Amino acid sequence: MSQTERLDALVDAARAIAGEVVAPLAEGEDAEARWPAEAMRALADAGLMGLNVPEAQGGRGEGLSGLVAVAETLAAESASTAMCFAMHCVGTAVIAAKATDWQKQAYLEPIARGEHVTTLALSEPGTGAHFYLPETAIEADGDGFRLEGTKSFVTNGGHADSYVVSTRAAADAGGDGAFSCVLVDEGTPGLEWSAPWAGLGMRGNSSSAVRLDGVRVPRRSLLGAEGDQLWYVFEVVAPYFLMAMAGTYVGVAQAALDVAREHLGTRRFSHSGQLLGSEPVLAHRLGEMYMDVERTRRMVHSAAARADAGDPGALVAVLGCKAAAGDTAVGVANEAMTLCGGMAYRDNSRLARILRDARAAHVMAPTTDILKTWTGRALLNLPLV
Ligand SMILES: Cc1cc2nc3c(=O)[nH]c(=O)nc-3n(C[C@H](O)[C@H](O)[C@H](O)COP(=O)(O)OP(=O)(O)OC[C@H]3O[C@@H](n4cnc5c(N)ncnc54)[C@H](O)[C@@H]3O)c2cc1C
Repeated sequence: MSQTERLDALVDAARAIAGEVVAPLAEGEDAEARWPAEAMRALADAGLMGLNVPEAQGGRGEGLSGLVAVAETLAAESASTAMCFAMHCVGTAVIAAKATDWQKQAYLEPIARGEHVTTLALSEPGTGAHFYLPETAIEADGDGFRLEGTKSFVTNGGHADSYVVSTRAAADAGGDGAFSCVLVDEGTPGLEWSAPWAGLGMRGNSSSAVRLDGVRVPRRSLLGAEGDQLWYVFEVVAPYFLMAMAGTYVGVAQAALDVAREHLGTRRFSHSGQLLGSEPVLAHRLGEMYMDVERTRRMVHSAAARADAGDPGALVAVLGCKAAAGDTAVGVANEAMTLCGGMAYRDNSRLARILRDARAAHVMAPTTDILKTWTGRALLNLPLV
């Protein structure tokens, strides 16, 4: 199968789940801040949870393009569901990057079979947007490690089977930013979840905080070598996370555009019989929204394809994608809210959910401002941080 055929097949599979499972449940999950269990099950049954697991471990062996395609398709119905799926895939990619034989068998193979959900637990209350500077302490403890700290947002929190947790390096391995990543299984003693997540938007994804109170993990749970994990941040976490979120926010922008198009194409004034979309200024604004979405989609797909192909120039393109998609999602959703008038503003409409979900783009680290700075620094051949 060619790359295009593979991606088309992925989009078809994701679109079927988005239409049949995600769409009917999205509003209720948002209202009740409920994790999308049914959608995650359907994605597992369709073999999509192993999207980024290497073929050798039974997965689909997809890279960034596949992740973008599926996240974008799901997000057109529910940004929260797309994010749950995407964070699982990013966690998978981090595990797969330097997996030991035991980690392949204990994590990657069950993930490929749709029996295991994983996710990333990086952000902390102290260092906030500087997610690559964890303060969670890791100490050698007998034949394993002991972890102490707090993670402030963990998407899939309490619902995943394992968490990829960043910690401050145990050894005197490095200076600023040197840290380790370890796998912590759900249910490990000392893992204490705080109050259920209920954000402004992205409400159906359980992005809860968790305290690690003397959590013990075996030595084999360490990912890679102690202290070499800045490599993970820039080689694996950054590209996978940035492209997963870029795809998600392109899907959010497309959803807003679709709602606006539908409204302008169907709303008629009773006094004149005039279609709202026949107002030139409104058609003009809809045209601008379309151009914004399409331009950003092309940028995101192109960056993913270049990175998958190993193009050394892809880094700059990848860095800019989440910021561009965030700007587009927020801008287009905001504009759609104007075009759809009081009818959309009223009653916490679908567009209201889209707008609330879109706003997460700018605060999720690396934030839009930080990414624009990193993109500029990459263009100038300056170190990113
Ligand atoms: C819905 C949701 C889901 C999330 N899921 C996860 C997850 O699964 N795993 C995970 O590890 N984290 C997750 N996060 C955390 C997220 O990625 C950020 O780390 C977190 O939101 C930072 O919050 P803060 O309040 O500490 O921000 P702060 O660090 O206090 O920053 C506040 C704001 O200041 C600005 N800012 C900060 N530093 C700079 C700078 N250097 N330059 C310019 N502007 C700056 C930014 O606009 C930022 O939004 C999630 C967050 C959200 C909202």
